[in-house]
Amino acid sequence: TEQTRDWLQSYTDDWVSFYRKHTSDGEVASYIPELLKADPDALGITVIGKNGMTLRSGDVNTTFTLQSISKVISFVVACMERGVAYMLDRVDVEPAGEAFNSIMHLEMKQLKKPFNPLINAGAITVTSILEGRTSDEKLEPMFELLEDMLGHRPELDVDVYESERDSSMRNRAIGYYLLETGFLESDMSVTLETYFKQCSIDVSIDDLARIGMILANDGRDPETGEEIIPRQIARITKALMLTCGMYDASGKFATYVGIPAKSGVSGGIIAAVPPRVRDEELPFLSGCGIGVYGPSLDDKGNSIAGIRLLRHIANQWDLSIF
Ligand code: GLU
Repeated sequence: TEQTRDWLQSYTDDWVSFYRKHTSDGEVASYIPELLKADPDALGITVIGKNGMTLRSGDVNTTFTLQSISKVISFVVACMERGVAYMLDRVDVEPAGEAFNSIMHLEMKQLKKPFNPLINAGAITVTSILEGRTSDEKLEPMFELLEDMLGHRPELDVDVYESERDSSMRNRAIGYYLLETGFLESDMSVTLETYFKQCSIDVSIDDLARIGMILANDGRDPETGEEIIPRQIARITKALMLTCGMYDASGKFATYVGIPAKSGVSGGIIAAVPPRVRDEELPFLSGCGIGVYGPSLDDKGNSIAGIRLLRHIANQWDLSIF
């Protein structure tokens, strides 16, 4: 009801102001110079629940780039293009326990395929598998999927793209390594260009919340009933988000928050709260999607205040899937 929504809204407003103070415990990512322009004190959250009921609080109008969150999109598109079996043959689904851009683990002798599609080595492999010969051809289906989910076509932030491209030594090293081991399925420079561009797609937290909501509902838009992502792909994607989505803090996030989620170094987080049987109390939150933005990051690369805010509301509203 309207009353519950108002109550949830004022509750969210209170806790966004509270956790905004925590932004000073972290730092904005600096390894991509353009990202440093973000406001370190920003914090915002959007929750889109049943019947489109929406809570929005804090810095809701800022746009920022998808960064690692794009790995979810490219994986979904690759599964839709090539089939799940083909993809799972080429990227594993195990947490790596290393930094997202780790090269070290690639050197492990028995490595038959990159650990998972949500770390750079796996994500770059996935991007190489996407159909298309040019980066524009590879990107188009990602833009189309985003448009289907968001109702509008997002844009590329060219400044962030160029900044990442020009400071991408480590990702190039990963690219060369994947080339040497034979994991890449298309030209390395086209693959990297596509990867840097997918990371540089501009979104808002409302956009993230919509993506989260569609994943939460097994790939369907709950408002129209339309299937945007096949159910099996949505489920695998959520399993990956839960086990590998929050960098090296995925285990802690699963333990203390318990929601499939994916973060990116620009400070965004998507979270998908699947509908459950025990949701009578706050039915509005059943199957909701959450988008968070807070560019000040902790030492693992997750939004420091964003994680604390999510943990707080997940506990308060009993959102854990466990
Ligand atoms: N574009 C970033 C990179 O590959 C994305 C990393 C991230 O968000 O974790 O370095």
